[in-house]
Formats: sequence, C-alpha cells, structure tokens
Amino acid sequence: MKVLYATSEAGPFIRTGGLGDVSAALPVALAEEKIEVSVVLPYYEDIPNSFKSHMRFLGATTVPLGWRRQYAGLFQYVQKGVSFFFVDNEYYFKRKGLYGHFDDGERFAFFSKAVLELIPLMKFTPDIIHCNDWQTSLIPVMLDSFYRNETVYSKIKTVQAIHNIEFQGRMDKYVIDNVFGIPEKNSPLVEYRGDANMLKGGIEASNKVVTVSPSYAAEILDPYFSYGLEFILRERQYKIIGILNGIDTELYNPETDRALFTNFSCKDPANKVKNKIALQKMIGLPENADKPMIGMVGRLTGQKGIDLVLRVIHEILSLDVQLVILGTGDWKYENAIKEMEKQYPTKLNAAISFSADMASKIYAASDLFLMPSKFEPCGLSQMIAMRYGSIPIVRETGGLRDSVEPYNPTTGLGVGFTFKTFDACDMLDAVNRAVSLYYNDKKGFETIKRNAMGKDFSWRKSAKQYINMYETL
Ligand code: ADP
Repeated sequence: MKVLYATSEAGPFIRTGGLGDVSAALPVALAEEKIEVSVVLPYYEDIPNSFKSHMRFLGATTVPLGWRRQYAGLFQYVQKGVSFFFVDNEYYFKRKGLYGHFDDGERFAFFSKAVLELIPLMKFTPDIIHCNDWQTSLIPVMLDSFYRNETVYSKIKTVQAIHNIEFQGRMDKYVIDNVFGIPEKNSPLVEYRGDANMLKGGIEASNKVVTVSPSYAAEILDPYFSYGLEFILRERQYKIIGILNGIDTELYNPETDRALFTNFSCKDPANKVKNKIALQKMIGLPENADKPMIGMVGRLTGQKGIDLVLRVIHEILSLDVQLVILGTGDWKYENAIKEMEKQYPTKLNAAISFSADMASKIYAASDLFLMPSKFEPCGLSQMIAMRYGSIPIVRETGGLRDSVEPYNPTTGLGVGFTFKTFDACDMLDAVNRAVSLYYNDKKGFETIKRNAMGKDFSWRKSAKQYINMYETL
C-alpha cells in the first residue's frame, strides 16, 4: 500500500507545533510496518540550509489555480526510509514564517493543487492521500473536481485528519471561484454558512475523517467543541474515527535526553530527583528534594485552561508545593503569571519563552504536571510528562481523557489525576488529591510513577490502527 502524507509542516525540517511532530513520526512508524510512505510539504524559506543543500531537484511543472498559472518545482530528501517531497514556489513560500500571511488561503490552495499536479513527477502513485488540517483539505475536493478522469488519479482514496478544529481556513466566499477555481457544481462542498471553509471541503469530499484521539472524534459533534462545524460533522459521522497520537520515544527519552541534568530510566528512576534539585538551583527556588514540584509547559492560551489556574492560584500556592511554568501565548496570561511570580518568589517560577531544553528539564524535574485544558484534540505534553515520571493532573477531555487513566488507590492502577468539569474548584480538588498522595502515601506515589513511566506511547500502536483504517478504504 502506498500513502502520500500531505502536510504543511514536518519535523525535523520545519515545525511550529504538534502537527510537525506527528508528520515527522507517523510516516516513519508506517514505513516500519512496511507501508510505502512519502510526505509532501512546501519548500519554505525557513527550512534550514543544512537540509536544503542535500535535497535533489526532480523537475518542475505549471499549476493552474483559477485564472493563474503558477510554477511548482519539486525537491526530494530521503530520511529513515521515507521520501520527503518539497513543493517550491518562491511567490508563495519564500517568506518568513509558515502561516499568518494575508493570502494563506491562496498559498495552501496552490500547495494542494500542486501536490496533485506533481504526483507523476514524484513517480509515486498513492493508493491513499492523507491530508492534514485545513492547509491540505482542498486536496480531496480538487481531486474530485479536476483529476478523476485521468488513470493515475482515478482510484486514489483520501483521508482528512483534524488536529485542531478551531482552525478551518475560513474566508470570503468569492475565493472559491476566483482563487481556488473550484467549478460551480462542486462549490457547495467548500461553502459553509456563507463563507468559504477549506476544512469543511475536506470533511465533505474525503473518504475518511480522522481526529487525533477517539474522545475528540466524539466531542467535535458537540457545538462546545466544534467551532461551528457540528452540523456537517454529524451528517458525516459515519466516516469519522479517532486514533490517539503517539510521541517520538527516541527523542523524548529520559535515559538519553541531553537536556537533563541527570539521566534516569523507568527501571531506575532514583536519579530523577537530582533533576529537581538542579532545576531549583538554576531558577532560584529553595532547594528541597521533598517538596512536590508542579510543572506546566505549553501555550498560554484559553484552550490550555490557564483561566482555571489563575482563578485558584492563591489556593494552589498555599499548599506546600513549587509551581514551575514555561510557555508563551496571550499577553494577558503572560502578564498575570509574571505578576503572581512577584507575589510568590519562593514558590512560583515562570519563564515566558519557548525552549525545548527548558521544557525537558521541567518534565524531568517535576513530580506533577498540570494540564487543565478546556479542549485538547490529543495533547503531547501529558505523554512526555508521564514518560519523564511527572504525574499528570488533567481535565477529562479529548486526548487527555484517552491517555490519562485516573489513579485508583485500591487497585494501584492508573497514571494520573483527573477532573471532569471545566471548573477551577474541581481542578483544585484534583491538585489536592495529587499533593496529598505525594505527602501521605509514598508507596502509592511510587506506584503511580512506575505506571506512568511504563506506559507505551510509541507510534507503533497508532500506526497499526492507521493501517487498519487505510485497509478499510
Ligand atoms: P499544542 O500542539 O496544542 O500546542 P501539545 O501538547 O500537543 O499542544 O504539544 C505541545 C508541544 O510543544 C510539546 O512537545 C511541548 O513540550 C512543546 N511546548 C509547548 N510550549 C513550549 C515552550 N514554551 N517551550 C518548549 N516547548 C514547548
């Protein structure tokens, strides 16, 4: 089986978030299961030259997009048995940054059309094109609108993945004809509530819709989570499934992670505490091995439940704990957290920055990891935290619900502390339960830590589920 994985970002070439992680790891995991996979993404200006200088130029073609005729070059880079194809067009991609340009709709409509146009040059005729988020969700629509009559394309099936339904590629409806060039008979596929909606097009025209956790697949049918798409999702419910993401267990490995002060493993976690003391020293918190450290790493946005944390921050910090926060995001949250840090200099440390090195140090040093998201399609941070022996305290939503089984002191099973309602007092109750276990039941805390560190978050399991899904097509 041949799968072409179309994405707007993929590590290690270029990434801004979770999609880049998934696009780096899932294709490799599929290749290890003997699936022929290629990945295709734009040839961005920001891709480091260390990669660009090793790419092979395969040729170029002209892509029709509405009334436009645009150049599309194709480069190739092979890594870990997977071909990565890069679509070159300087007008669209020789710019700083990946997203946030005024013409993003046109840029990714071009990319989607170019992927289809370039398939013959790739010499890789896929059985399945796996599209990711709104940036590539016009592929299924364009495939049906322009290419079905040609033999190469006639049998291709499509999968539309939704990593976060908040982002849909919505714009004025005139672009459907003028920019996308979609013929009138197919324009209803891309139209939604008076706008052009690129993600909706992918949901309509693809053969299968997949979200990044089973719980999120159910949640997006509800207006609380769906950002307005619930009607169309309910109509198409028959083809929606959820498969939980994994993490790169080689990259996120406390045994080998060079960012840690001291490495440790699931079998021998004794050295973990040295990371706590070293981090306390580094960031100026009182050095105390016995004090539970609560870590938070992530975007400081409404999605991540920062409102709940701020609502009961005094109550949390009245406990005998230390809170260490790393993140960037909304100005109001960054400010409020820095303000709190001034009030609690011996208990709260916050770094408003993006640093993979610091993130690893916090995962390794902390005993508990707080992630009270309002919604969470999958979430990687809680999985990394568990792998580094930091016990997650999470809200039961999306991928958090699917990856963090609540601890049961009677059976000794479970890997974290959870709460249901998006409510600050409920979250505080979960924090209290976690801190109380830490202080009052050392054996219980060791058990939960072992359970969390021993959990399998590798991509192998998810890759098998993806293959099963591809086979149904
Ligand atoms: P999302 O994709 O919604 O931002 P995820 O939990 O799926 O959230 O993935 C977040 C990833 O980004 C994790 O690998 C996390 O460690 C990393 N990350 C988030 N914020 C920071 C930061 N400020 N510094 C370093 N890494 C971060």
